[in-house]
Amino acid sequence: MKQFGAHVSASGGVFNAPINAKELNAKAFALFTKNQRQWSAKQLDEKTIDLFKQNLELSGVKPCHVLPHDSYLINLGHPEVEKREKSLDAFIDEVQRCELLGLDRLNFHPGSHLKQLSEEECLNFIVESMNKTLEVTKDVKLVIENTAGQGSNLGYKFEHLAYLINNSIDKSRVGVCIDTCHLFVSGYDIRTRETYDKTFAEFDQKIGSEYLLGMHINDSLAPFESKKDRHHSLGKGEIGIDAFKFIANDPRMDDIPLILETIDSTIWKEEIELLYSFIES
Ligand SMILES: [Zn+2]
Ligand SMILES: [Zn+2]
Repeated sequence: MKQFGAHVSASGGVFNAPINAKELNAKAFALFTKNQRQWSAKQLDEKTIDLFKQNLELSGVKPCHVLPHDSYLINLGHPEVEKREKSLDAFIDEVQRCELLGLDRLNFHPGSHLKQLSEEECLNFIVESMNKTLEVTKDVKLVIENTAGQGSNLGYKFEHLAYLINNSIDKSRVGVCIDTCHLFVSGYDIRTRETYDKTFAEFDQKIGSEYLLGMHINDSLAPFESKKDRHHSLGKGEIGIDAFKFIANDPRMDDIPLILETIDSTIWKEEIELLYSFIES
């Protein structure tokens, strides 16, 4: 079974996200559980949590098909200890918010070396932050997103993701989210049957599909290997529509949240319908 959805708005309160997902006929969704551009947030109170759970139930989306995304400010691999600690505190808070909402995974971007560290040093800081988080939280899985490789962001190679998984203290609580736009611009082609199969065979070999806990389904405005993070609507970008047909029929993507982050939210409903229409019975 495929669970397609979109990164919906939680404005007015997290409890609005499931309602917004239901309106799209989505079977999965992503959300920010706090303002993604601010460090601090109000604690989730009991009323908010209850209403979220109630609306989630009404939406028909299972908790394991919700893929919360952490704040853009967090950099678990920050070269400066103070800023890294600030990020870690905020990250732990994000994980605890997921726990409170009854959600089992949190999607995050690994981090950036800001040209002050080697890639390996930065990856070690990231995994150290992940391990500290795993120690003080329970149940929620840390889902590392592959990145476009823009600037000094790590996570643009399968090897980076594998390194973080292999050095974590609890492999049962880590996984990855593959963003198709980031995948493509970082140099993994998925445009044809042949290139798609080659890319995911490499994924299986270096990471393993048991670690695939979510996907972001985006076309790309920027060309192959450009390392530019510019999402586009399905079939309108450089990837083209075929890759999304392959995904819709790939058992590796069964039973995980498959989330649109495409640029035109007014056509998300149609895009979700389109993705479901690709499934060959
Ligand atoms: Zn992301
Ligand atoms: Zn993404």
